[in-house]
Amino acid sequence: MTLREAWKLGKDRLTEAQVPDADLDAWYLLEWCTGVNRSHYLAWPEEAISPEQEEQYRQTLNQRERRIPLQQITGEQEFMGLSFYVNEHVLIPRQDTEVLVEETAKFLKDGMSFLDLCTGSGCILLSLLHLRAGAEGTGADLSPEALKVAAQNRERLGVKAELIESDLFDKIEGAFDVIVSNPPYIKREEIETLMDEVRLHEPYMALDGHEDGLYFYRKIAEEAPKHLRAGGGLFLEIGWDQGESVSELLREQGFSDVKVVKDLAGLDRVVEGYYR
Ligand code: GLN
Repeated sequence: MTLREAWKLGKDRLTEAQVPDADLDAWYLLEWCTGVNRSHYLAWPEEAISPEQEEQYRQTLNQRERRIPLQQITGEQEFMGLSFYVNEHVLIPRQDTEVLVEETAKFLKDGMSFLDLCTGSGCILLSLLHLRAGAEGTGADLSPEALKVAAQNRERLGVKAELIESDLFDKIEGAFDVIVSNPPYIKREEIETLMDEVRLHEPYMALDGHEDGLYFYRKIAEEAPKHLRAGGGLFLEIGWDQGESVSELLREQGFSDVKVVKDLAGLDRVVEGYYR
């Protein structure tokens, strides 16, 4: 089978299965299985792919037809310019979350300590440590499978970080200069409306913000004061319509200078507050 035939096969199969961006996804999978880049393809479209490559390519198409996200097939996602390993036990890092990392990094200085709650793949924890190698970072997650992924990413990126299995603050001792989190925040009734890739293949526990979507913000806002040093900052990713309600939760718990930061699409994305 030639490269051209392979791409055509992939486009047809994924289009038939109503996969969004079928052409592009077929291309990415072909590129991933053969190592052939775009300019090579344009120069030699009639080059044959090996039987092993064809077999692997067909298997990845089977997976994508079942709406398994591309990132779970290839096992990686870029975030903050770094490559993270991902699997079905963690939320795939989203570009939207880069705003949270950038906002937190403005406050986080070398020598400070920080805690990343619901760390998942570790994308927030580890990219912050990549930016602030002199900071001391701890990641917590309830899921041991997610922590294994975070540990693999810690190894992959060669940074130092502590990882703790903990339901929010349950196993956390001591106080930090910064607490950051992108907790699950989708309203339960909205989960079934999400695209198949997310609804069927990303961890339910990474999406589910309970009835009103605010469950984790409430718990974090209540307990964070016990785990923040004087002058410490709390940085939370939020959904586009949660800016007001999460700001209010922080003010109720005595946080000051509470503000909402927008993402590149102009939507509310981060709420931050300080504990004096
Ligand atoms: N903190 C991780 C991330 O931002 C996981 C978030 C989650 O599971 N809700 O990707």
